[in-house]
Amino acid sequence: MLTIPGRCWLCELPLACPGWGICSCCTASLPKPPSCCSHCGLPALSVKLPCGRCLQRMPEWDTITYVTDYLPPLSSLIHHLKFTGSPSLAPSLARLLLLRVLAARRDGRITIPDIILSVPLHRSRAWRRGYNQSALIATPLARWLGCNHFPFSIKRIRSSPAQHTLTAKERKRNLKGIFRVEIPVAGRHMAIVDDVVTTGSTVAEIARLLKRQGAATVQVWCLCRTL
Ligand SMILES: [Zn+2]
Ligand SMILES: [Zn+2]
Repeated sequence: MLTIPGRCWLCELPLACPGWGICSCCTASLPKPPSCCSHCGLPALSVKLPCGRCLQRMPEWDTITYVTDYLPPLSSLIHHLKFTGSPSLAPSLARLLLLRVLAARRDGRITIPDIILSVPLHRSRAWRRGYNQSALIATPLARWLGCNHFPFSIKRIRSSPAQHTLTAKERKRNLKGIFRVEIPVAGRHMAIVDDVVTTGSTVAEIARLLKRQGAATVQVWCLCRTL
C-alpha cells in the first residue's frame, strides 16, 4: 500500500481535503452494515428494540457503534495500521468512525459521552509496536467531539494468552482481573474505543468494570464489528 501525502489511502486520487486521508467516494463505497441491534451490534430486524439475544442477556455495555463488518478494504487498512507501522493512518480511520458516531447521534441512538477510553495493550506489545492503535483512534475523536480522553486510565495488568482458540466462556475467564480502571468514573458517561470487536469479551470486561465503579452509561465505539 502506497503512502502519498494528499492522496486517498485507497484509490490514490488527490484529496479535496488532504487531512481526510480517505476520499468521499471511497468512504461512500465502504460496505454498509446490515440492520443491527443497537445494543449488541449484531444483525437484527429492529435497530430500536433489543434483539432476541439481548432480551435473553444484555451485553455489559449499553450501545455499540461501528463503521462496518470486518471486511476489505477497512480490514486491510486496520491490518496496515497495526502491523506495518503506519500510525499516520489512524486519524483517517478515526474520521470514518466519527461520521458513524455523528450519524448515530443524529438518529437519537446515542449521546456524546463525557470521557473516551481506549482499550489498552499490554506494555510489552505496546513497546514492540511503538503505539496503541486504539489510543491513536480515540485521540482525534475526543478532540473533534470535545470529550476528555485518558489514554492511560485503563491498565492491562497482565497479558492474556491468545483469545482466538478459546470458547466464549474460556475467554471471559481468561480476561477476569486483567484490567484496572485508574480514574473516577462514577456518574460519568463513557465510550470505550477499540479497533476491532470480535466476540466483544474484551470490551465487555472493561464495560463491566466501569459499571461496577458507577459509570452512568458505557458505549463501545469501534472501526469493525465482526458479524
Ligand atoms: Zn479514494
Ligand atoms: Zn442485541
